[in-house]
Amino acid sequence: MHALTLLAALLVLASAPTAAQQQDFSKVQMKAKQIAPGVAVLFGAGGNIGLFYGEDGNVLIDDQFAPLNERIVAAVRTLDPGPVRFVVNTHWHGDHTGGNENFGKLGAVIMAHDNVRTRMSTDQFLRALNQTFPASPKGALPVVTFAEGVTLHLNGDTIHVIHVPNAHTDGDSLVHWRKGDVLHMGDTFFHRMSFPFIDLSSNGSIDGLIAAVNRALGLAGPNTRIIPGHGPMASRADLIAYRDMLVDVRTKVAAGIAAGRSLTQIQAAKPAARYGMPSGFVKPDNFVQAVYESLRNPPRSAGHSHGGTSHSH
Ligand SMILES: [Zn+2]
Repeated sequence: MHALTLLAALLVLASAPTAAQQQDFSKVQMKAKQIAPGVAVLFGAGGNIGLFYGEDGNVLIDDQFAPLNERIVAAVRTLDPGPVRFVVNTHWHGDHTGGNENFGKLGAVIMAHDNVRTRMSTDQFLRALNQTFPASPKGALPVVTFAEGVTLHLNGDTIHVIHVPNAHTDGDSLVHWRKGDVLHMGDTFFHRMSFPFIDLSSNGSIDGLIAAVNRALGLAGPNTRIIPGHGPMASRADLIAYRDMLVDVRTKVAAGIAAGRSLTQIQAAKPAARYGMPSGFVKPDNFVQAVYESLRNPPRSAGHSHGGTSHSH
């Protein structure tokens, strides 16, 4: 239960309105860091926020937790005095969408993949946390949704929001600034802080996760600045190392399954142990279990994702 408790603390503890009131945000500082012309990252509590700012208006990629709204607004104002016109949610989890209702009230248009709205519209049970998260209020729901993606033309740049199926969840999007050469990965990338969390009860999968990272690597150049969902800024080389870790663990778990081994036996062989992570937020055994379950019982809608091994050689 310890790992799950830690998971809950970081990932979702405050996504439910009641829980949000219990979590103490009073000491959270919002730090804005410019990473390209007109593009910044905001580190606070919850998922890293991407900010696209300039004369045509400001765009947020994710908006953390509701109690941080004023601090997010203040951080945006240090870079641009204009309002937030759009919020893009990379997926439905409460540490990425908790500010939606407030930003909607301030006039922002919330945008996300279709499944983000669907999941936020009803109570969600997260099996890994053994916890139910209540449906979001109407004002928090994305009002523009898409199946494959959407493109924004603002501030002299073009940003592509690209759905990647059945990865961390079934509603993930990558966000790519073409000129700015920045990529926001949402929670398809946990960087240097933990093994990734694959939300199986939201139809995430290891193969979709690997496909998402390969998609991102196809967009990224040698100098692309990569914003992970959680953790510090990353480079393309960091993302390649992460992809190789995912593929390696997936290959070992799949070999164990093919040899008829149980989950316990596969975990005992410690296929993820060589990848040290600074925090035990998702422990190696939890990650191996998620890979195992996702291979044994892939999400039904994952048939069109491209599998895990196509780029592994
Ligand atoms: Zn998440």
